[in-house]
Amino acid sequence: MPAALIGLDLDELRHRTEQWGEPAYRARQLFHALYAEGCHDFRRMASLPQRLRERLEREASLGLPRIERRFPSADGTTRYVLRLGDGKTIETVWMPEARRQTLCLSTQAGCPVDCHFCATAQLGLIRNLTAGEIVGQALAVLADHCDDRRPQTNVVLMGQGEPLLNYDATLKAVRLMADPQGMNIPLMKITLSTSGIVPGIRRLAREERRPKFALSLNATTDEQRSALMPINRKYPIAALLEACRQVPLRPRERLTLEYVLLGGVNDTPEDARRLVALTRGLRSKINLIPWNAVPNLPYCVPTNEAVEAFQKILRQAGRLAFIRRSRGQDVAAACGQLALLETPVVTRAHALRDHRLRV
Ligand code: SAH
Ligand code: SF4
Repeated sequence: MPAALIGLDLDELRHRTEQWGEPAYRARQLFHALYAEGCHDFRRMASLPQRLRERLEREASLGLPRIERRFPSADGTTRYVLRLGDGKTIETVWMPEARRQTLCLSTQAGCPVDCHFCATAQLGLIRNLTAGEIVGQALAVLADHCDDRRPQTNVVLMGQGEPLLNYDATLKAVRLMADPQGMNIPLMKITLSTSGIVPGIRRLAREERRPKFALSLNATTDEQRSALMPINRKYPIAALLEACRQVPLRPRERLTLEYVLLGGVNDTPEDARRLVALTRGLRSKINLIPWNAVPNLPYCVPTNEAVEAFQKILRQAGRLAFIRRSRGQDVAAACGQLALLETPVVTRAHALRDHRLRV
């Protein structure tokens, strides 16, 4: 199997090109061709000499994930199923807006964290992704949109997997994506979301250069959080928030807290008031995510009234709180729906109706 180049940083590329007897500047040209030009054919890497292109053809591969299927949503979102070199599949989501696109990347195939409301949890951990497989998702999907790409790209590490349980590969991928000589996606446009792995948060706090950081809080008491996210038994709320307070925020940066609203479970006014208390003195922004339906899970979508009342309590207490309406629900592309589902499953309307039928 020829060596994969996507995922190598400049030093590693330099090592390769030196072994091939090439001058030092070749590594920079190759880095640029791979990450900035998104050139996915060695023969067309015009900045490289013919003999090196031929050598790359023979002795190297890009190692890009292959697009296996596209599930386009009515709202413009596309869920991609990508096949990795070893045959495993993962998902990546493309979300276009007027002037930018947001890419939602996976950091693991499946996920070992057993959050009870999330479809990815049902896959279990298949394996960690390499840095190349994380960056490769972005390169493959951007290349698929060379005709309708917007000027700016945002990245959220919110696909399959828990990024802080695959720390080194994730951070390497973030650095590669942020490199001004490469993809040039500013660190402030890359968001890492975690279910709350305290040692990982502590490590992140010590990084000189890190992406934006979001914590999936999802509940306001340890009892409730442990029932929804068993990882909370290991890293309870107080320890989590303490670790988050140690992450030095840049000017104007806020810690993002995500809060999935599960109808009748954690969406009551008492929950909202407890959330106000928990976030006192924390420079934060709260994203409320109405639960996206997952087949066979015992939760329901919150009512619009409950979502709005929840937000109102937060806002009246001076918190920045937004309702994040998920995209791509009709093709199982929304938060927590990534489980390699074959067909569109349940829409929000269906979920509500089914729930009403059940009660
Ligand atoms: N593993 C990381 C990132 C991927 S999950 C994490 O847990 O943070 C991305 C977000 O989707 C998290 O905030 C998670 O709480 C949320 N989520 C999971 N399942 C969901 C569902 N069914 N509906 C809405 N949001 C969900
Ligand atoms: Fe994993 Fe995040 Fe889903 Fe929890 S919510 S199971 S951490 S992907």
